[in-house]
Amino acid sequence: MTRTATAMPPVAGLHHVTAISGAPQANLDFYTGVLGQRLVKKTVNFDDPGTYHLYYGDRVGSPGTILTFFPFVGAAPGREGPGQALAYAYDLPRAAFDNWAERLRNEGHAEGTVSERFGARVLTLRDPHGQRLELVEADIDGDALGGFHSVTLWVDDPAPTARILTDVFGYTDLGSEADAGGGERLRLKAPGDAPGAIIDILRRDGTPGRQGAGTIHHIAFRASDDAMQLDIRARLQAAGQQVTPQIDRQYFNAIYFREPGGVLFEVATDPPGFMVDETEAELGSSLKLPPQHEPLRARIEAHLPPLKVPA
Ligand code: ZN
Repeated sequence: MTRTATAMPPVAGLHHVTAISGAPQANLDFYTGVLGQRLVKKTVNFDDPGTYHLYYGDRVGSPGTILTFFPFVGAAPGREGPGQALAYAYDLPRAAFDNWAERLRNEGHAEGTVSERFGARVLTLRDPHGQRLELVEADIDGDALGGFHSVTLWVDDPAPTARILTDVFGYTDLGSEADAGGGERLRLKAPGDAPGAIIDILRRDGTPGRQGAGTIHHIAFRASDDAMQLDIRARLQAAGQQVTPQIDRQYFNAIYFREPGGVLFEVATDPPGFMVDETEAELGSSLKLPPQHEPLRARIEAHLPPLKVPA
């Protein structure tokens, strides 16, 4: 790998995770009603404006709390397997773990098994369209979920993926352990305590994953600004990665590349954020369109399925 001499601030962790779901209402009801997330942006897939793009997060849509969905009505289910991001995990206050586990089991969401991973309990759930998600006990206060704890990548060969994280993003290898579901789990962590600082890389035999409802489309890492994103882009190219030019996603600027294990990675800037076109109180309350799609608003709104946003 080519190395440049200049120092670069390390990546602070995850910016957002984007997944594919079925019909939007069930998705919205689960993430707001069951998990207590806030719908912070209701917009459309900029590359396919006939489909919603829903963003969930904390009150203000902080990086490291953002989970987004492309909800395709009637989407065929995907299949979990290597070459995919398998699951995202939220921090759950340690004191609230048992109550959450009991409630989710009673409501039929939890798979029922609590496993242990690097010394912390993990509760595994499925969302209404089959997406695997996890709640990991953490030393945080309150009863509500915190931001992301981690994402698990499932790949055939962890080493090249890990090298991107350590050599380009500045992550530290925290070691590995046997996974409760089989195979081996390698853990890497970004410096600092921002939410979503951990990436787990799972090596386990399996048939390659297939994209569809209930699977993760891509995961995005944080860049503090455009300059840092440009620096990361140059480093990725020096490491042999094919990276897109910067793309304006209205709430952040994005670059994308497919990491060696097959997972689509994005690097997204923290600014401008979700309050660029709505106040904190308004977040998620109306359909927001980027300027290029605004002339088509009437047609887009007529085509989108109705969506009842909880008060
Ligand atoms: Zn993204």
